[in-house]
This record gives sequence, C-alpha cells and structure tokens, in this order.
Amino acid sequence: MTDFTMQTDDDGVAVITWDADGRSMNVLTREAFATVEGLIDTALADASVKGIVITSAKKDFAGGMDLNVLAHIRTESGDTPAQGLFDFTMDGHRILRKLERAGMDPKTLKGGKPVACAINGTCAGIGTEIALACHRRFMTDSDRAKIGLPEILVGIFPGGGGTTRYSRMVGAMAAAPVLLEGKMLAPDKAKAAQLVDEVVPADDLLSAAKAWVLAATDDDIVKPWDRKGWKMPGGAPYHPAGFMTFVGASAMVNGKTQGVYPAAKALLSAIYEGAMVPFDTALRIEARWFVSVLMNPRSSAMIRSLFIDKQALEKGANRPDVPDQSVRKVGVLGAGMMGAGIAYVAANAGIDVVLLDREQAAADTGRGHAEAILDKGIKIKKVSAAKKDEVLGRIVATTDYDALADCDLIVEAVFEDPGVKADVTRAVDAVTGSDCIFATNTSTLPITELAKASKDAARFIGIHFFSPVDKMMLVEIIRGDATGDMAVARALDFVRQLRKTPIVVNDARFFYANRCIIPYINEGVRMVGEGVNPALIENAAKMMGFPVGPLQLVDETSIDLGVKIASATRAAMGEDYPDGAVDTVLIWMADHGRMGRKANAGFYAYDDTGKRTGLWEGLADQYPVAEEQPDLTNVQHRLMMAQVLEAVRAFEQGVLTDIREGDVGAILGWGFAPWSGGPFGWLDIIGATRAVEICEGLEATHGPRFAAPALLREMATSGATFHGSFGNGQTAQAA
Ligand code: NAD
Repeated sequence: MTDFTMQTDDDGVAVITWDADGRSMNVLTREAFATVEGLIDTALADASVKGIVITSAKKDFAGGMDLNVLAHIRTESGDTPAQGLFDFTMDGHRILRKLERAGMDPKTLKGGKPVACAINGTCAGIGTEIALACHRRFMTDSDRAKIGLPEILVGIFPGGGGTTRYSRMVGAMAAAPVLLEGKMLAPDKAKAAQLVDEVVPADDLLSAAKAWVLAATDDDIVKPWDRKGWKMPGGAPYHPAGFMTFVGASAMVNGKTQGVYPAAKALLSAIYEGAMVPFDTALRIEARWFVSVLMNPRSSAMIRSLFIDKQALEKGANRPDVPDQSVRKVGVLGAGMMGAGIAYVAANAGIDVVLLDREQAAADTGRGHAEAILDKGIKIKKVSAAKKDEVLGRIVATTDYDALADCDLIVEAVFEDPGVKADVTRAVDAVTGSDCIFATNTSTLPITELAKASKDAARFIGIHFFSPVDKMMLVEIIRGDATGDMAVARALDFVRQLRKTPIVVNDARFFYANRCIIPYINEGVRMVGEGVNPALIENAAKMMGFPVGPLQLVDETSIDLGVKIASATRAAMGEDYPDGAVDTVLIWMADHGRMGRKANAGFYAYDDTGKRTGLWEGLADQYPVAEEQPDLTNVQHRLMMAQVLEAVRAFEQGVLTDIREGDVGAILGWGFAPWSGGPFGWLDIIGATRAVEICEGLEATHGPRFAAPALLREMATSGATFHGSFGNGQTAQAA
C-alpha cells in the first residue's frame, strides 16, 4: 500500500487521499512525497481531470514531516550533508511549486487546474505547507482540530515553503504568531489568520472543496506573488512600514531568544531577504537558511531531544517487557497541592479517581482544585461544560480507605514525613489486593527506605510529579532497590495515559531532577554570598537560555523549603556537607521573612498582586555587591557546570541509566536550556575536552565541586561524545 492514492469522480475531480501506511497520523516520508508528485503529474496530464482535492483518510490531516527523514538524509549524504539536505529541500519546493502552478501557462497564467485542500482534522508542519501551496483551503469545524506551523518549537522553522508563502500572504508582522511562536490555531482563528479560507461542517468538507474546484476560474488559482506588481502585505523591508516591522521583529526575536536559538533568527532572515526577490528565489533563500539551521548542532540537539528521544521515551523505550498495565482506577492520598493536581490530570485522562485526605473538607478542597482548573478551561473555551461534568464525575473525594479496595494504582502525596508516609502505606496495604501498585510522590525521601513500610516492596515505586502538575510534562519514575518490573511498567503506562513524558531512574538522594536543580540554585545563592551582583547572576542564566535564573527559581519553590532541604542534607552528609556558605544566605533570608513568592518577598520584590517588581534592593544591606565583579562567562560556566556535572555523575553512578532521559528530563523538568538538547547535548556541543578545561579552571578557583568526573575525562581523552557512545540507551557501566 502507498501513502497517497488518487481517485477521479464522475465530475472529473481527482481526489488525492493521504493515508500513511501503518501509522495513526499522516507524517510525510520521502517515498510518499515522490508518490504524491506522480499523482499530481498524472492528474495534470489527464484531460478528463478538471481539478484536484487533497484530503486525508485518517481522523486528522497531517502531523508534519517525519523528522527522522532529515537525520537519514544527513547520514546518507556522507561528506556533503548540507548539499544533501539542500537538494532534498529544493526538491520539495519543486513539487509544491508544480502543484501551485498546476499546469498554467507561466506567461498568461491561464489553463491551470484548481487544487483545493480538504483539511479534516489537525494539520501541522509539512501538512500545512502542502495546504498553503493549494489554491483554496477548507477546514472542518471540529473543535478538536488545529492547524499551524509549530516547527520553531523543536528548533527548526517551516522549510517546505511555509515561511515564504505564509509571510507573503499576510505580511511579516501578522505571520509572527504562526511562524515565530509556532501557535496552532482552531478553525475559526485559522480562518481569521488566513491559514484556511473556509470552515465547514465535517460532512460537507469534501463536497464543498469539490464544488469550489469545479467552479474555480483561471483567475481564482493565481497566487498573489505570481501576479505582476505584487507587493508584500505590511510592506517589504525597504518600505517605511516594512522597515519598522523588521527592526521591531529582530529586537523582539533577540529579546525572546537571547540570541541562543538559531532558528528564530534564520526564519526572520529568510522572510527579510525573501521579501526583496521574486518568489522562486525566495524559496531558494528559505532553503539555504533552513539547511543552515539543520546543520547547526543546536538545532540537531533540539530535534533529537524534543522530538526523537522524547517520543522514544513516551513510546516506552525503557519499559520492561510485561503486558499492558493501563490504570483504570487510581487512589490519590493527600488532597493538597500535588494530590489535587494528580487527581485532576488522572480524571482528565479518563481514569477513575479516589481522592483521600484525613478530613472530608480537605478532600473536597482538593476536588475543588480540579473544578477550578476546569472552570478556567471553560473561561478560555478550551473545556466544555459537559467535559467538566464528565471529569469531575470521575473524582470521588473521601476519607474512607475502603474506597481504595479495587484501585490498580495508589499515588500518595501526603506530608513529606517518613512516619506519615509509612502509616498511609500500611493503611492502604490493609484494603488493597495483591495486584495494586503503591507509588510515592516524595521529592526527597529514598524510595528503598519508604518501601520498608510496604507489605511487598516489589510493588512499591516512586512516581515524582512536578508542580504545577497540570502544566509540567515530566514525570520521574524511581525504582527502589526491590521495585519489580510490573510496578515500573504500570507507572510508565499510567504516565502514557496522562500524555506526559516519563523518565525512569534509580534511587539515590534527590533522584535525578532535584539532584541537578539544587546545585544550580545553590551556585546562584553562593554567588550572592560572595558579593556577585544578583542581576549578573540572573541575566547570566537567562542569556544561556534558562527560562528563570537561580534566584527566581528559589523564590518560586520557596526559601524555607530550601532551608529544610539543606538541613536534612546536612544531617545526612555530616562532615562532608559542602554547602554551608549557601545555607548562611538562605537562613538569613528566611529569618528576615523573605520566604519567596508565596510571601511576596524573596530575592525579588513583589507588589501586592504578587507581581515581581525587580530584585530586592534590601539584599545589599547584608550582601553588598562587591566592587570587582566576575565576568559573564565565568558566572555562566559556574551555573551551567553546577547542573551538568551532577547529571554526568548521576549517569556515571547508574542513577540515570539513559542519557536520553537525562536530556529530555532536564528540559521538561526544569527548563534546562532547550537549545542545547539538555546537559549531555550541551557537553557534546562544546566537546568533552573543552568541558574538562572549564572544569579545571573552575576547580582551581572555586573548589572540588567542579572537578571533572572520570567519565568526562575519559571522553576527553578518547574524543568520544555522549550521544555517540550512549545515545541509544547504553548505560555508562556497559561502556
Ligand atoms: P500539601 O501540604 O499541600 O498536601 C499534603 C496533603 O496531605 C494535605 O492535604 C494533608 O491534609 C494530607 N495528609 C497529611 N497526612 C495525611 C494522612 N495521614 N492521610 C491522608 N492525607 C494526609 O503538600 P504537597 O506540596 O502537595 O506535597 C505532597 C507530597 O508531594 C510531598 O511528599 C512532597 O514532597 C511531594 N512533592 C511536592 C512538590 C511541590 O512542589 N509541592 C513537588 C513534587 C513532590
């Protein structure tokens, strides 16, 4: 079977139907692109065909390009990967341009065949680019369907003509939300944004597209840029209005990306340069910028982590080989901030939930939290009233342990206290069956220790959600020493049901994510103690592409929590505890009531509504800014290495068993500079030799916490890369 087939109806409309073989979603492969070209040629050459409609046999139109194809082309092209990618891109332009010109006489612009696109569901990436090459786009009015060009979100930009076509349709400014922000639009918004021309009921979609094709005139199918005298909407760069747009746009792009994302800048350059030349030359310019982005190690790193590896983890790359363990009913213990969030995401995924707390009022408040999230969704028209009833209907709030009897999974999110956790573990064991898995959402307590309270440690596991649960996409699954495969598989299947991304790590202090986040925060706080300007610390982080600096991060998570974690760590480590200088600053802050965002007072100052108003000036009374400041690179290296070395150590020690999890987990868990592909991606970009050099410099001035781990040194000696050596899930121990 081929991915595209064509059938001509009695009226002479050739319907090309996309139905990717063996996939639930249409994604474009190289072979399929060749097939569709053959069908276009046949339809254009057949005198009995009056026009073409392109549609899909799946429930959605298309998911985009198979990004693995780009990786294959690179490898296949040997010493000339850029040429291989450029030829491939230009070939795509040639095919879509053929569709767009549809056999018309290039001089008179007459005699072409109309082509309509019938978009029957969600349509993204190359799917949208194919649609944009058609002469008219019809979209179903389904409230689930979205259309857009989200490429920028994985570090590239629309390189199948979408950038040039769409910016020429609406102008650079109006195109920004779709091209620069990657926004996916619902049908009515897509129509307003001119991504589609008509929104029609699903049942009328094909007939409306066919009717248009049969009625279209020569004039209807000529694109504006193929007519004489075409001008860029909103003004080309040399036009006064266009000039203003492009000046503003480059400032905006640099402000938003801090210059670390090559794709946004390349996208803007393609639009700017393309706007000054004829359409076909503009496509060539788009292709050159596209290839330059694909060849940039940052973009390959982003594609690898945010697309290929993330998908592999979601599909169960590290799932034990046991039958499906999907969860039908989950018991959530503790209806506080985390428990309520977990109850909501589970119910929203169609799982029945028993939400249990010590008192009925607390359980009800937790259920109310789910209701509040749903109400917010209704307000912004993302959730229907019926959906709200359905989701809330799945959550039973109670104090009664008997209600947990037939749960397949329990997730406890009670107080972070081993005694309280042991009590609820025993209470659950008394009522649940031998097939039930017990998970703890602890952020700091060792799973193996907590499992001691369980009747069967093989069925005890850590499932660590991040806050806020409904927004954060990462879930860290922690294997205790005795945790069995069934428990891991159930946890993974549960996370898949929630449509979140899982990583599976072994049990060690702070597991993986917090193990790396804490040193990042600590390094920032330590610098405050040394008299480094707080603005320098925060900006250094942001200029590396971190969404929040370490001081803002500790404000968000709360300073008293930082103090609590520090004292527990100090108690556990004794003499070896290395962070006394950090604690001095944190304790001073806590003593002065500066607990962070929740207290409207932390390293930042806040107004009455809780909005940050800038760094808190009072900090200088205790920690004055030193006269001599370190340079930006030094601050950046400290902040970066504090996290990255911890990730390497976690991998070296077998806490992390797969660097793909380390990279994806870092980006989704704490916003680790996405452009780098994650800590291991960053090390591969700079190279192990350079990394060791940086470590040696930092170790000499700042101490042994920056000593290069043995694994990193080995890689510097051998010239190996992390992804080259471990990128398919190999463990450090196996190397
Ligand atoms: P919270 O204080 O908001 O909620 C805890 C809830 O547990 C309260 O409603 C309390 O009444 C209930 N509870 C206490 N003892 C109970 C018992 N014996 N039986 C039933 N219910 C009981 O706490 P939280 O922030 O939701 O954290 C819960 C857990 O999740 C902790 O282990 C915490 O470390 C972990 N966690 C928290 C975060 C975070 O950012 N807050 C992130 C990840 C993990």
